[in-house]
Amino acid sequence: MILEAVDRVCAAASRWARIETLAETAAGPVRALWFGTGEPTLLVVAGVHGLEEIGTHVALAYLQSLLAQLPWDDVLAHTLTQARIVVVPALNPVGLSQRRRGNHAGVDLMRNAPVHPLTTAAPFLGGQRLSPRLPWFGGYAAMEPEARGLVELVDRILAQAPFALALDLHSGYGWADRLWFPYARTKQPIPQLAEVYALRGLLDATLANHVYIVEPTALGYTIAGDLWDHIYDQAYARGKLLVPLTLEMGSWSWVRKNPLQLFSRRGHFNPVVPHRLRRTLRRHGPLLDFLLRATVAHSSWSRIRPIERARLDRLARDEWYP
Ligand SMILES: [Zn+2]
Repeated sequence: MILEAVDRVCAAASRWARIETLAETAAGPVRALWFGTGEPTLLVVAGVHGLEEIGTHVALAYLQSLLAQLPWDDVLAHTLTQARIVVVPALNPVGLSQRRRGNHAGVDLMRNAPVHPLTTAAPFLGGQRLSPRLPWFGGYAAMEPEARGLVELVDRILAQAPFALALDLHSGYGWADRLWFPYARTKQPIPQLAEVYALRGLLDATLANHVYIVEPTALGYTIAGDLWDHIYDQAYARGKLLVPLTLEMGSWSWVRKNPLQLFSRRGHFNPVVPHRLRRTLRRHGPLLDFLLRATVAHSSWSRIRPIERARLDRLARDEWYP
């Protein structure tokens, strides 16, 4: 059971990490594990959608490799004096335990933020506020405890840090692995588009053969009440740079290679065959490593002079907002 695996890793991490409870749920607490003493922060989130347990597997694999390195790796120890790593391996324990997308109230946490007035969401898939019996339910009004817990966690991180990078692990859309950044609610660019473009350039140069398609979420489909849009806007209003990336692992190729998966709901969202699971767990290690380095060195690529900013902004608009 996946939540037992989360418990085991949290117990093993308690020697190295500060463990904080973000919310209580019927299936146990939502926990955040804090490593390091620096300011800039890499935040890794998983298990927002309970059916997409592969994300939690990837987060646990990352935690396990951190725990294996901490006793001996001086480079990592030094890095953690310059930065922090915060991991939330299971934001939606009820969804994970019941193998459903939403939380106990049937709310899709990724559509549960206050809806921005300028939203142009896709019908239905982009979130609906009619009934928890229908999919993509964003809740009636208030934010759910799990979503609020994540919003407040980022608040606390940014109270101490000028910069944070978040990676939220999902699966189930498309053939390729996508890295999505806000906005989800509209096909208009975020104000800090040049910074995201600079980070993408760094990724392309550093991991030259990487597999990721980097693009705004709204190029896939637009969403009302997107949690990362909301968190991004709040961070921007405070004068911070938060780059929230959603890794949407393309699950269609797992299904194509093993069509029997189509007969289980879980099979739509997760690699079921063991060697494919192992391959998925290996696949994203270099990305996490890169994101940590980019977090430590954020001022080297995110402090952009005005002329350069205008150039990057133009290139980004040409590519992503034609
Ligand atoms: Zn998802």
